[in-house]
Amino acid sequence: MPTYRIAIVGAGPAGYFSAQALQNSQDEERTFAIDLFERLPTPWGLVRSGVAPDHPKIKTVAKVFEKIASDSNFRLFGNIELGRDISIEQLKENYDAVILATGSSVGRKLGIPGEELAGSFSSADFVPWYNGHPDYVNVSVPLNGKNAIVIGAGNVAMDCGRMLALDPAELDSTDTADHALTSLHLSSIRNVTIVGRRGPEHAAFTSAEIRELPKLEHTDVLIAQSEIEGAKERVAEELEGNKELRNKLEALLEVSQTPTKNHQRKLAINFLLTPLEIIGKDKVEAIRFARNEVINNKVATTSEIIEMPCDLVISAIGYQVLPIPGVELANGKVVNENGFVTDNLYVVGWAKRGPSGVIGTNKSDSSDVVKLLLAKLPSAAKENSDIAKIITNQQVVTQSGWQKINQAEVEKGEAVGKPRRKLTDWSDLLSLGQE
Ligand code: NAP
Repeated sequence: MPTYRIAIVGAGPAGYFSAQALQNSQDEERTFAIDLFERLPTPWGLVRSGVAPDHPKIKTVAKVFEKIASDSNFRLFGNIELGRDISIEQLKENYDAVILATGSSVGRKLGIPGEELAGSFSSADFVPWYNGHPDYVNVSVPLNGKNAIVIGAGNVAMDCGRMLALDPAELDSTDTADHALTSLHLSSIRNVTIVGRRGPEHAAFTSAEIRELPKLEHTDVLIAQSEIEGAKERVAEELEGNKELRNKLEALLEVSQTPTKNHQRKLAINFLLTPLEIIGKDKVEAIRFARNEVINNKVATTSEIIEMPCDLVISAIGYQVLPIPGVELANGKVVNENGFVTDNLYVVGWAKRGPSGVIGTNKSDSSDVVKLLLAKLPSAAKENSDIAKIITNQQVVTQSGWQKINQAEVEKGEAVGKPRRKLTDWSDLLSLGQE
């Protein structure tokens, strides 16, 4: 019975779900030995460094990842970077198949003047900062002003807006990185405005995330009821047959009708504004927007210009793939056909389809790609040397090394009533993560 050796690069949801699909495809005729490579000393990808700390339920999927990793034919190689410690060619040579699950970590740019001013950030920097990603610990987010603007109308914009607008006491029992929690407690930001360039009908927020907003205990949420009613009128004919749209607009309408409580902290959502320029001398001071209107379901810019003062700008307008040595990219993704890249190389998750879908979306996506991979697998497995002997980097964090880190973080957290306290320093992580 052949045992096929499969390399997966990237220990986020798409990587784990690919491993799971392979494990579930084992039978009397074939088994799989899976090696999961990860650049960081810690696995779990966006579940660790993307999901907002006030969404602990979403993170429980990590239990599934650990079950997948407990298989005796599974190995984790943390602190192994593609291009630095190992090449795509080496992986392709030494494995029967290679699956790229590297996600998309580069924030898209607005491409407007002023974007590089101090105080203007991408969600690709802000989100890993509050989540304790070791590469983002030193991002210095100025929270000493009063007004923040978040550009984008998707769930990442919602996460960023909520994290800035809620009372940080609501984060005390979460796994928000210590450095971020301290800064958020000292923050003087009180007005946070999320701005979408299209109307509510085209917003990418999901209803569950919208419905959470009134649960913020110390923040007034401001949405103009007239904006939602206007959107409902524009799409009146579609509403009957489009449950998702109906739910989203209902959720927005409910929030717009929720009485405010005169809290100091405000989170507003504005629509139909295209950012034209971030204004400021040495740092951001305001954003100039063009007011838009919807004509025949299409957004058009009017001649009306408005300026909104701000001390901090977060653009949360999507992501693209970080270049991978030896892999062709186009439109921010790895060039692929339904997950097939070339030879015995495949791609899954955001690197394959772009930054869309929730964590669970990766389960079916990875499973489809694994089906394709299995159909193309030759009848005999390769006979090649163990990659562990090829990797010269001595500081590999294995599954048991990671378990030590995990346990240490959970214990530190439990002592203060949190799910974990993340270690955020590379050298601490690496030294703790040795077997
Ligand atoms: P997204 O859902 O694609 O939203 C991106 C937003 O940015 C859109 O509103 C888009 O507007 C806007 N945008 C793009 N370019 C722009 C520009 N130049 N100027 C102004 N606005 C611009 O992406 P995301 O928020 O990064 O989320 C990625 C995926 O992760 C999504 O599938 C999301 O649902 C998921 N996610 C889920 C959760 C959760 O379940 N709680 C949390 C976070 C993320 P247009 O539509 O006009 O292009």
